[in-house]
Amino acid sequence: MNPELARAEELIRSVPDYPEPGILFRDITPLLADAEALRVTTQALIEPFLGTFDVVAGVEARGFILAGAAAIAAGVGFVPIRKAGKLPRPAASVDYSLEYGTATIEMHDDLPAGTRILLIDDVLATGGTLAAGRHIIDRLGYSVAGISVLFEIEGLGGRELIGDLHTVFRSA
Ligand code: AMP
Repeated sequence: MNPELARAEELIRSVPDYPEPGILFRDITPLLADAEALRVTTQALIEPFLGTFDVVAGVEARGFILAGAAAIAAGVGFVPIRKAGKLPRPAASVDYSLEYGTATIEMHDDLPAGTRILLIDDVLATGGTLAAGRHIIDRLGYSVAGISVLFEIEGLGGRELIGDLHTVFRSA
């Protein structure tokens, strides 16, 4: 790993017992606050996919931050995948399981059919969120050019569920 990326990784703060006892929360806000770390990690998220996607999509809420930065860095647009009830004209919704309970995501259908979408999120845990993101993109007739994640938590089944994905950092 290049030194700039290694330095960026050190800026991800691990917070025990947040938001619940037993969860080790990976807080990326110190990385986001550092201009160089934000730049190199944004670049690392998009690099393997350059030239293969037309827009970047991110899942609410932290996915928006990195996906927005990635879209600008790649010179393409950004599309939000939002929690239920936040979009004015959702064209599709997908329910998915969280550790406790379920959630629903929604998306508009303003893109041309077949648009190639790079899907980005901050942290991969069980993979449920990104699997739902991929599902809603498929459902609307777009194509998933790739899935790219800043930090992969290993051992929770995310990689097994998602299959082909690119991660910049992963838990030891
Ligand atoms: P997942 O289980 O992969 O669907 O993760 C759900 C969402 O919660 C992801 O979009 C992550 O942003 C977030 N998340 C899950 N576990 C963690 C964690 N340990 N630290 C930080 N964010 C997390």
